[in-house]
Amino acid sequence: MKKAMNVLVLEDTEADRLFIEDALTLDGALELDVRFAGTVSELIDAARHQQPDVVLIDLCVPDSQGLLTFRTAKSHMPQTPIVVQSGLAEEELAVLALSEGAQDYLVKGRFSHTQLVRSLRFAVQRQSTENALRLSQQRYQLAAAGANDGIWDWDLVKGELWVSPRWAAMAGLPDGCMTNTPEAWMALVLPSDVHAFAAAIAAHADGITPHLEHEHRIVHTDGSCRWVMCRGLVTRDEQGTAVRMAGSLTDVTARKQAEAQLVHDALHDRLTGLANRVLCLDRITLATSRAQRNSSRKFAVLFIDLDRFKLVNDSLGHLAGDALLVEMANRLGHTVRPTDTVARIGGDEFCVVLEDIGGAAAAMRITERIQKALSMPVALANTELVVTASIGIAMYRPGHTSPEDLIRDADLAMYRAKEGGKARHKLFDSGLHAMAVEQLQLESELRQSIKRGEVHMAFQPIVQLSTGLVVSVEALARWQHPVRGAVSPDKFIPVAEETGLIVELGGHLLNLALGSVADNERQLANRHGTLRLAFNISARQLWEPGLVAEILAALQYHQFPAERLVLEITESALMRDWLRAASMLEPLRLLGVSVHLDDFGTGYSSLSHLQRLPIDTLKVDRSFVAGIVDCQSDLEIVRAITNMAHSIGKTVIAEGIETLAQYELLRSLGVQEGQGWLFCKPTRLLSDIPKAWIRPEISQRQADGVRRTGPLLSSGFGG
Ligand code: C2E
Ligand code: MG
Ligand code: MG
Repeated sequence: MKKAMNVLVLEDTEADRLFIEDALTLDGALELDVRFAGTVSELIDAARHQQPDVVLIDLCVPDSQGLLTFRTAKSHMPQTPIVVQSGLAEEELAVLALSEGAQDYLVKGRFSHTQLVRSLRFAVQRQSTENALRLSQQRYQLAAAGANDGIWDWDLVKGELWVSPRWAAMAGLPDGCMTNTPEAWMALVLPSDVHAFAAAIAAHADGITPHLEHEHRIVHTDGSCRWVMCRGLVTRDEQGTAVRMAGSLTDVTARKQAEAQLVHDALHDRLTGLANRVLCLDRITLATSRAQRNSSRKFAVLFIDLDRFKLVNDSLGHLAGDALLVEMANRLGHTVRPTDTVARIGGDEFCVVLEDIGGAAAAMRITERIQKALSMPVALANTELVVTASIGIAMYRPGHTSPEDLIRDADLAMYRAKEGGKARHKLFDSGLHAMAVEQLQLESELRQSIKRGEVHMAFQPIVQLSTGLVVSVEALARWQHPVRGAVSPDKFIPVAEETGLIVELGGHLLNLALGSVADNERQLANRHGTLRLAFNISARQLWEPGLVAEILAALQYHQFPAERLVLEITESALMRDWLRAASMLEPLRLLGVSVHLDDFGTGYSSLSHLQRLPIDTLKVDRSFVAGIVDCQSDLEIVRAITNMAHSIGKTVIAEGIETLAQYELLRSLGVQEGQGWLFCKPTRLLSDIPKAWIRPEISQRQADGVRRTGPLLSSGFGG
């Protein structure tokens, strides 16, 4: 059953009460529960006892007069609708009460029963609508405050704007300090963003977009820029004209910063902050398309590799290495123009894209400037270091189809620069490219030849100069190519090194060499006793982690005693990191394997280091031997090397001895062993190697007037 409407009436005059009672009870259509109070305090008591649905009050009662009566009632029942009754003289007061929240007023003696009932019913209805509205407004405010959004409401007809305190706070404006006009709003938007924002508003107002949604920046009073997302919706009149637009403003600065950071991280190197490979390739692509449109816009790519960076890292630690990279990155950044791109594309590898340069000569000049800047001393971990860089330069050519092509060419040129010695630069030319292609070709043919057994071993004896006895043989790789013919190891070993094939090839060669010795072991033992086998290890092989294990396995497989194996390692390979080499070779040396320093004199080893190197013997490079007879300085070098080696207890072997004169001289210097065509050319068959070399009669040679450079062998086995 529907609940009766509860009406509370404040009325002290008996006649008026009767009129009201009549009006409210006579109307049979309404279920009404009417109560009367004679004073304000009675009214409050009655309301406290039971909450009325509507209150009808007379402004003049014994304990209260005029507007005060309404105010008191309202303050006790803020949500309850109140209808005011006044005398004719107080109608003005009743109107005032309306402005303070009364739902309606009636002038005594001027209203009918029906009017009274209708007024009360409307009051109840209106109040409940107002209450619901207030509730929803409160909810909205709470939600908006919770979401941290600013609210705005723009009267498009009057051109008035209202913004919430949170909205103003986003721009750094205290509550109430924002001028309420759309112009004031636009003045806060970053000038470069105004146009797009205004266009988005117009598009929505014109019905082109279903709602307004736009991201732009506003300028905070502290001078910083904030990213905001503005959302809004228009209200239209009957003609469809936009009359009002309202919505929210959200601070999205943090999200924008996070997005920007992500993009930055994806394109930059974390350590140095420089562009990374991806961004570098992108810049080269851009420069390429500019150069394709306009051939006068030349650009170059530099590939920079720090010399001996590994040494810094290994000796001073990674922190120092990182600090060095950061310092080098800064120097690079300061040496080129801001429009050029400096990128870090590998551990100690940098790329620079030089845009809009005159040509190769300009690129070379900038390269020299970079090399100078990089080689200034750096203070690191309490020491001062000088670090140099090798740089390859590639100029853009129309033949370059991808950005990688340019980096590859610059890299190749850098590689050649490094080969020529440190701290150099080289300009890429197509010859380098052809060389690289040729190397690749050679590598693939070498792979096939290994499989087909076209790579084999030759052996060359090493003799004791005082007796002529053969004390060891050096195994030398030979490649008999079906079309190219014999390919020199000086040509194919470096290719195998560069491509990494040397690891496989080296293992194969070691097994070939040990296998040959094992096959001829009986004859060899008869003739030479304990002949030693010298085997060459290239730089790349030396740093392969599996090298020691591989050698040990091969020794075991061929039952070859470790003390008869000699490893020949070039001076330059060993000196790259002799401490590491020493610790790596230690287990082999403990087993009795000896290490000879090959091609000695061509590298940079300081003589003071030699004593600490893990080696037993120096093999003097054949370039010195070739000169000793005619060139005084070569003679002096060999003399010095020999004396120094002897003073620290090392043996000396001379390679490339071709003449008796060289032999005599070397012997007189005290060089213990020698190798060369004078004694024997490298031969495929171990059985061709004699027991000893017998020195020919000088008198006869002099008589012949012939300078013998061919092999002078003692006759056959057991000779
Ligand atoms: P190397 O180890 O210094 O070998 C000595 C080179 O001098 C050999 O060149 C040898 O044939 C040559 N030679 C010997 N006596 C004379 C002479 O009286 N006059 C002249 N002009 N040359 C003489 P080869 O066989 O061409 O080898 C060149 C280099 O290739 C070797 O220099 C070595 O560094 C490398 N190599 C050779 N075989 C191997 C190998 O199996 N593994 C590795 N990693 N490198 C090898
Ligand atoms: Mg050698
Ligand atoms: Mg040598």
